[in-house]
Amino acid sequence: MCGIVGYVGDQPAAPFLIEGLKSLEYRGYDSAGIAVLGAKGATVVRAVGRIRELEAKLPKRLSGRAGIGHTRWATHGPATEANAHPHRSEDGRISVVHNGIIDNAVILRTELQDAGVTLRSDTDTEVVAHLVARSTAPTLEGAVLDALGKITGTYALAVMDADRPDRIVVARNGSPLILGVGEKETLVASDAAALVRHTSQVVHLDDGELATVTAGGFRTFDRNARDTGRRAEEIDIAATEWELTGHQHYMLKEILEQPEKAAAVIRAGSTTGSRPPG
Ligand code: GLU
Repeated sequence: MCGIVGYVGDQPAAPFLIEGLKSLEYRGYDSAGIAVLGAKGATVVRAVGRIRELEAKLPKRLSGRAGIGHTRWATHGPATEANAHPHRSEDGRISVVHNGIIDNAVILRTELQDAGVTLRSDTDTEVVAHLVARSTAPTLEGAVLDALGKITGTYALAVMDADRPDRIVVARNGSPLILGVGEKETLVASDAAALVRHTSQVVHLDDGELATVTAGGFRTFDRNARDTGRRAEEIDIAATEWELTGHQHYMLKEILEQPEKAAAVIRAGSTTGSRPPG
């Protein structure tokens, strides 16, 4: 289970996606990719290995203002470019990134192939792109709900539709997913590390919850399409918590910061302890 990022706003999406994926690198991954929606539909770039290899493959012009990105830790199929996310529907309209495992993927893959769909990866995730594309629901939200009705397993999902470049639809079940609310932009991430440089206003989605994110904000709803009315809340986490801050790697950072962290915990404890009752 690895990393997801997403961006819809008034700025090009790619810089945030790449920076966000870099801030999730500490979780480990085997491949990475992004999809950006522009005037001519989705541009998808994927690479095995580090984010900087993905970055090196990006076209010079990638100005779309909605996009999703992923670092993959393979569970279904080896670490190849074809298995890296985002995965797409056959017509390229739907792009999907996914953390987690779709338990009934083997059955769904067979059903899709029997229906004439050509699968282009070994992954469980690809079925979601096809299921969303094949839904007859009139909205992207409805199509995602239709697809979720067919899958079992764990997921954090972010779905884009080239026909609806103003939005990303996300869903959570057993794998974390957070929205970050900025000015004229809304962000998506599987881990606050990717958001803290941009906003302190976040929404932690619950299992069974979905959201539509647009440049102007977000709307949360449940599996029955009922609004869950979530509001953003303030998180108090410094960006440096996730930065290497000069250390060679994260384990070293953790070890060397121990005295400072222990002192902070003791300070917090003594402040609480000395507080007058009531
Ligand atoms: N099960 C998916 C795959 O193997 C997603 C793995 C992940 O969470 O990175 O492609």
